[in-house]
Amino acid sequence: MILDNHLIYIDITQLCGIGCDFCMYSDKHTIKQDLNLNELGEKNISGLINHPEVKRVTVSGEGEPLNRIHIFKQILKLSKGGIAFEFISSGFLLQRKLIEFYDKVNEIVTSNGDTCNIRLSCDSYHIAKIKSKPHGASIKYFFEKRPQGLTFSFRSIDTDKEFTRNYLKEQLLAYGYDSELETVDVLEDHLLSGDSIFKIEYKSLVKPTSVKAGEYMDLGQYIAAKENRIKKSFTLGSLNGEGLPNGMDITIKPSGEIFFYGIESLNLANILKDDVDIEFFKNIIRDNKMVNTLYSKPFMEVMGDLNSDDSVKKLIRQTNNPYWIIKELNAFDENLLNKIS
Ligand code: SF4
Repeated sequence: MILDNHLIYIDITQLCGIGCDFCMYSDKHTIKQDLNLNELGEKNISGLINHPEVKRVTVSGEGEPLNRIHIFKQILKLSKGGIAFEFISSGFLLQRKLIEFYDKVNEIVTSNGDTCNIRLSCDSYHIAKIKSKPHGASIKYFFEKRPQGLTFSFRSIDTDKEFTRNYLKEQLLAYGYDSELETVDVLEDHLLSGDSIFKIEYKSLVKPTSVKAGEYMDLGQYIAAKENRIKKSFTLGSLNGEGLPNGMDITIKPSGEIFFYGIESLNLANILKDDVDIEFFKNIIRDNKMVNTLYSKPFMEVMGDLNSDDSVKKLIRQTNNPYWIIKELNAFDENLLNKIS
C-alpha cells in the first residue's frame, strides 16, 4: 500500500474548564494530563513533523490547548521549516491575551518558514460557553495586522449551520466588515469578506443523543459527503484527493501514547518512551491485518461485515462518527474487531 501526505495530530492537554454540553472528552477533564515532552519525545516529534511526507501538523487537545501554550510553542520550535501547522481551539482567552498569542505564534512560524492555520470552533455549543467573542476579533486581527504566517478558519458541528453562518456574519459586521457566504458542499462553506476567504468546516456529531434523528448528518450521509469530495471510497487514514494515495493519521495523546486516528483500540507506542519514526508506523499498517483493512477497505463495507447483530448495529448507529466507532466496538466486545479482514 502506498502511503503519502500524512497528518500528525498532537493533543497537548486534557485540561479544559469550558464545559460544552456535547464534549466528547469530558471524562478526561478530571485527569488534566499534559503532554510533557522529554528529550526522546522532542526527538520523536521533531522526526515526525519534519518528515517530507507529512502534509500537516495539527495541535489540539482532549481539552483546550490554549491552556498549555508553552507546549505548543515547544512543538513549533522543533520545526526545520516548511511545515503547515494547524491549531484547533475554542479561542476562549480574553481578546487581549488571544492577540498576544497570535502575535507570538506568527513570530515563531514566520521565523521558521512555517505557516499556522488557527481553526476556531464556532457552533452553538461552544458559543454558549465562550464569552470573549474570539471570532470577529480574530478576523479583525487578521485584516489589521496581515500576519504573514497565520490564516484563520472555523469549524462547526452540523446540527445548526444557520447559527454558525449568521453568528459569523454578525461578528464581522460588529467590526464593520461585510461578508457573504458561499456553500462549497455539505461539509464546507466559505465566508467571504474583503479580499479574503475563511473556510467553515462542518463535522459530524459524535453520539448525537440529544438531537433528533433527521436533524443531524448520520454516518452514511457523512461518509457519502466525504466520498463525494474525494471521488473515492472513504477509509480510515488521512484522506487525500482523487488520484492521490492516502496518508497515515497519527495521533499523539497527552499521555504520550500514539494511535492511528480512529483506531484507538490499538496502542502503537509512546512518544516519551519508544523510538519511533514514519517507517515504524508504515510497517504497522503493512503487518497488522486490522489496520491494513481499515486503511484499505471502504469503511461502510467494514461496517457491513461487523453488522452481525442488532446491538452492534445500534452501537454503530448511535456512535455516528467513523473515527469513534472502532473504539466503541472494541469496548463493547474485544473479539468483534477480529472480524475485520
Ligand atoms: S472546549 Fe473542547 S474540550 Fe473544552 S469542553 Fe468544549 S468541546 Fe470539550
